[in-house]
Amino acid sequence: MSSPTRTTPPLTALSGVQGHVVTPDHPNYDATRTVFYGGIDKRPAAIIRVADVADVSRVIKTARDEGFELAVRSGGHSVSGHSTTEGGLVIDLRDLSKIEIDADARTAWVDAGVTAVQLTGALAPHKLVVGFGDSGSVGVSGITLGGGIGFLVRKFGLTIDSLLAADLVTADGQHVRADEQHDADLFWAIRGGGGNFGVVTRLQFRLRELPHFTGGILILPATPETIAGFSALSLAAPEELSTIGNVMPAPPLPFLAAEHHGRLVIFAFMAFAGDDAAAERALAPFRALAAPLADMVKPGPYIGMYPPEDPNYRPTAVARTMFVDGIDAAAAGTIYEYLTKSEGMRVAQLRALGGAAARVPADATAYAHRSKRMLVNTAAFYQGEADREVRKAWVAEFARAIQPADDSAYVGFLGDDGPARIRSAYPGATWERLVRIKGKYDPTNLFRLNQNIRPA
Ligand SMILES: Cc1cc2nc3c(=O)[nH]c(=O)nc-3n(C[C@H](O)[C@H](O)[C@H](O)COP(=O)(O)OP(=O)(O)OC[C@H]3O[C@@H](n4cnc5c(N)ncnc54)[C@H](O)[C@@H]3O)c2cc1C
Repeated sequence: MSSPTRTTPPLTALSGVQGHVVTPDHPNYDATRTVFYGGIDKRPAAIIRVADVADVSRVIKTARDEGFELAVRSGGHSVSGHSTTEGGLVIDLRDLSKIEIDADARTAWVDAGVTAVQLTGALAPHKLVVGFGDSGSVGVSGITLGGGIGFLVRKFGLTIDSLLAADLVTADGQHVRADEQHDADLFWAIRGGGGNFGVVTRLQFRLRELPHFTGGILILPATPETIAGFSALSLAAPEELSTIGNVMPAPPLPFLAAEHHGRLVIFAFMAFAGDDAAAERALAPFRALAAPLADMVKPGPYIGMYPPEDPNYRPTAVARTMFVDGIDAAAAGTIYEYLTKSEGMRVAQLRALGGAAARVPADATAYAHRSKRMLVNTAAFYQGEADREVRKAWVAEFARAIQPADDSAYVGFLGDDGPARIRSAYPGATWERLVRIKGKYDPTNLFRLNQNIRPA
């Protein structure tokens, strides 16, 4: 039973915990309860910075037996604030930070509290990678459980396509190893099914070789023609090239001439996983779409895609996620028109898929949108609660204008969109299979602070 208003910290029940129990009277309570997104201000009864697997089991047992709502936090980037709770317990995994690399075997065991940039940095000297998303501070666990669509998606597939195994603690407090041979149904479900099935304590990845890489930011002026052209080129590019094109007002960046600040641009991340000459060939048509306003794309180590972040950055934003076949002239015109007529920071983000991501059979993992060609997100920043509702309605209307025909969603980018949208993340038989597996591993829905799949 959930008791969201409960405030008495369960200190007695948690007395055996080896990690840190941070309660409201602790000097670090406010810093510890803060999550990535602004506008989320929940006060847990206790945040348990777990030290080991036994701590995870202990907190799960306490939440179950004492009726506390339970949140699980890795990198803290949940779009919907799921990694914290009002009056409940938080399993905070950030102190589980070990990375064990076997460079010869091309595998690594990675603790659940590690972030994308931490693992990418540890792998850099070996010229090995796992593909994550466009933010280095996102938790490896959170992004993997949702699928993981990022800079290397066309070359190496989603993050889950590099997952070999995971250790979890399930709702009954048991420690389970899930891989293709053991608890294979659980292993299928956690590759896209989110945090519904247990607390992942570590993950084993297959490492990919990346001896040569070219990447960085390319800024082009945005017009209906360049938007459609960018989309078409991204879809037709060799699969070594993955792009993330953000159509948005240009931020006031030092490397961008002041006259362009605030003008609509395609702010693109270009990532080519291959040799320098092939990269130049693949990038040339993008550079020819229009005279670039800034071109920082160059050969260099892949870790360069994750520049240092401001740890105090707390954006308040709403977003809507969808899949499309591409952005034709009409859709490009719609994007241009909506963004031109609105105010504040707003964006349409275009991510071409295909390549290795599309070669995995749709039923091989709980991420089943393998045939979708492009992921699009509309997003807007807001100021205060009233503005939030206005912006939320705007991003939804904008999304419908781009994609009126298909409601499919990528779970990693869902916010508080509601049950129908969660269902849209899992097409066909995927949903029924997830519900069955949820019933097996979490029959009381202890793990429900997530894009929730309720047990049958
Ligand atoms: C700025 C930004 C950029 C992003 N870019 C991308 C991108 O390029 N590609 C992409 O695919 N996604 C992207 N995302 C989405 C991101 O992958 C998800 O929000 C993800 O859930 C964040 O993981 P986390 O560990 O940082 O977050 P947390 O808030 O710690 O976790 C989110 C949820 O995941 C579950 N969870 C996390 N860790 C565990 C665990 N160890 N065991 C069980 N459940 C767990 C819990 O339900 C938790 O509430 C981005 C998000 C942000 C905010």
